[in-house]
Amino acid sequence: MRPHLTARQAGLLNCHVCGQLARAPAEAAGPPRCPRCAAPLHLRKPASITTTWALILAAALLYLPANLLPIMVTTSLVNHQVDTIMSGVIFLWVDGQWPLAVVVFFASVVVPLLKILALTHLTASVQRRSRHRTLQRARLYRLVEFVGRWSMLDIYVITLLVALVQFRGLATVEAGPAAVAFGAVVVLTMFAALTFDPRLIWDPLTDSEASDHD
Ligand SMILES: [Zn+2]
Repeated sequence: MRPHLTARQAGLLNCHVCGQLARAPAEAAGPPRCPRCAAPLHLRKPASITTTWALILAAALLYLPANLLPIMVTTSLVNHQVDTIMSGVIFLWVDGQWPLAVVVFFASVVVPLLKILALTHLTASVQRRSRHRTLQRARLYRLVEFVGRWSMLDIYVITLLVALVQFRGLATVEAGPAAVAFGAVVVLTMFAALTFDPRLIWDPLTDSEASDHD
């Protein structure tokens, strides 16, 4: 890669709130603040790695009840049925609604798991200051961020099913405790992607260039 000057090396700080670029003040001037919106300025998101780890861990723990506890409870005159995500997927598949089964399987089982694994890989590699595959990791981060907004798809499917069944008046459908856990997994992984500072991916490269001049 071509050597280049980074904002950090030039003593410039970027405001996380309004995007204003500011010059870092002298040490004695106290904690730097944005000249435009007065928000505290940081070179990198503060405690990015620790916060992201905490959010990933919470998401990984909640992934278990999200998949093991009932997500949907159906009660009609003749039966009382409790469904987990997987039993729901199997039911849809057997019932011949395989496109819906595939959507629910990917949106609620595969994607959240891949997201947790991708965030774990990103945070772990940044923590040990890896200098390998930086571009691929930057792309992976963008993908995780992009996928975030589609993750609530499964909750929409359940909402739709509940509305459909209630409308036909055949039975009552209620969201089970797994729905809350699942929603929490989605929100926690979105926050983890937000607290992760992608600039940390590139820092080991520019740091080693800077140390060459020392
Ligand atoms: Zn600002």
